[in-house]
Amino acid sequence: MATRWVRELSISYKLPLLLGASVAAIVVIASAPAWLRMRELVRVGEYELSRTLVQAWLEEHPDADGTRPRRVIAGATIRAIPIDEIDARDERATEAFEALPPPSADRAVDTVMLERWEGLGRRYLYAERRPAPDGEPTLIVLERVSENAGVQLGVNSLYVFGAGFVVLGVALVAFYLISSRLVLRPLRSLRLWAEAVRDGNTDERVDITTGDEFGQLAETCNLMLNALREREVRLRAINTSLDGKLNQLAEANATLDEASRLKGEFIANMSHELRTPLNAIIGFGDLLLDVARQETSELPEGENPPPILERRTRYLEHIVSAARGLLHLIESMLELAKIEAGRVRVAVEPADLGELCRGAAMMMEPQARKRRVGIELDLRVSPRVETDPRKVQQILLNLLSNAVKYAAPGEDEDRGDGEVIIRLESLVAEPAAVRLSVIDNGSGIPPEDQERIFQKFEQLDASETRSHGGAGLGLAISRELAAMLQGELQLVSHMGLGSMFSLILPVSYDHDRPAMQPGEQRFEGAVSRG
Ligand code: ADP
Repeated sequence: MATRWVRELSISYKLPLLLGASVAAIVVIASAPAWLRMRELVRVGEYELSRTLVQAWLEEHPDADGTRPRRVIAGATIRAIPIDEIDARDERATEAFEALPPPSADRAVDTVMLERWEGLGRRYLYAERRPAPDGEPTLIVLERVSENAGVQLGVNSLYVFGAGFVVLGVALVAFYLISSRLVLRPLRSLRLWAEAVRDGNTDERVDITTGDEFGQLAETCNLMLNALREREVRLRAINTSLDGKLNQLAEANATLDEASRLKGEFIANMSHELRTPLNAIIGFGDLLLDVARQETSELPEGENPPPILERRTRYLEHIVSAARGLLHLIESMLELAKIEAGRVRVAVEPADLGELCRGAAMMMEPQARKRRVGIELDLRVSPRVETDPRKVQQILLNLLSNAVKYAAPGEDEDRGDGEVIIRLESLVAEPAAVRLSVIDNGSGIPPEDQERIFQKFEQLDASETRSHGGAGLGLAISRELAAMLQGELQLVSHMGLGSMFSLILPVSYDHDRPAMQPGEQRFEGAVSRG
């Protein structure tokens, strides 16, 4: 608590406070030996005085019987008592005698001095054990009182400690002046500068020209601020140019949106205009083909059809097949344009995916038989899924038609044994979704092309692909549809082994999920897992 209070104190208080405390401690520690020595010197002086007084008394002529009378010299009472006659009632003599060191052969005379306070005065009791002229040991006792010893001691102590505290005061004043000039003033300048910069005034500079560490720090701060200012100016310029670019981009975006809308409209109108004559071409082509085939069938048995009839039949077949391809392309383009314009809605209802798979397999059967490809159903679950069944069917038919197209054909003319599998399974990692896969045993798709084939008009440029026809729109449409159904298309393919296209579909459609913007689907919905 107290240390926290000291820690949070301003440095202009903290420095003198801590320094004052340490100098005071130093003064006390340094003065203590001097004070003790002074006391010792006073004691030695008192001892010497007592001894000299006793000596003077001893040098006086003794009485006729060899004894000396009790005397008072300079306020001190001196008397001699034979050791044997020390009376226990004589407290002073008894106390002094007991304090004497034990007799020793080395010393002729043993001495002792006791002292004690009496108010402000000090009482001294000095004693000697020495032999009397008759040879008997005698105790010489001196008693005296120094009346103003306390005052003397106080004055002396005052001198000793006073000197120390004068040193302390001078040290503090000197330290205050030095620290405020060398430390506190530059610190204050730095603080004021930092506050100004914090408040956004980047024109402020630190004005310290001392050349010491504070001066260097101030110079560094000023340089840092200059660099900051430069960077700020550069950033502002970049920002302005970015703003301009952003405006340009927004304008370009608006133009693109408009162009895209016009393109969609154009494709929709054109498709409509093209479909009518194309249907007529296909219809009349079919009719003419029927007539040609009729004529061929009416020929007598064993007779070869005339070359003109044969050629007419072949050309008509080409016309009808090309017109059908064109119609398919136009319909695909129309569909994609509608999806991208956000005009295709999702109609969610409970759907039996197993039933859907069986229906799709039946629809593809004739096409598969033609290529001698068998379609096998592997329905591991039969979930009822809340989704748009027509869109799921469209995706499935597209995947199936690709699989049938690219699967390796079997040997048997009648029965397809080339392998295409429709698999329906639940996902271990994601129980709220199902996986509908179409697996073929074709030549596979190279890893570097696995992303590309989901783009519009992208086809693998192998002769095999070319020979199968198609416009390269089927997977692009399927991907958009998968995203609309809140699912995704996945592809796993290995060269020489075949491909597996999977539609991952949530079991229930989330109506609260915000609808994607037109065209946004192209960033979602297709994942390639090589
Ligand atoms: P397309 O109408 O040409 O089939 P898609 O978008 O459906 O258009 O397919 C794009 C291309 O992806 C195809 O041209 C083909 O090269 C390749 N592809 C699609 N499915 C398969 C598959 N099962 N096996 C091999 N290649 C495939």
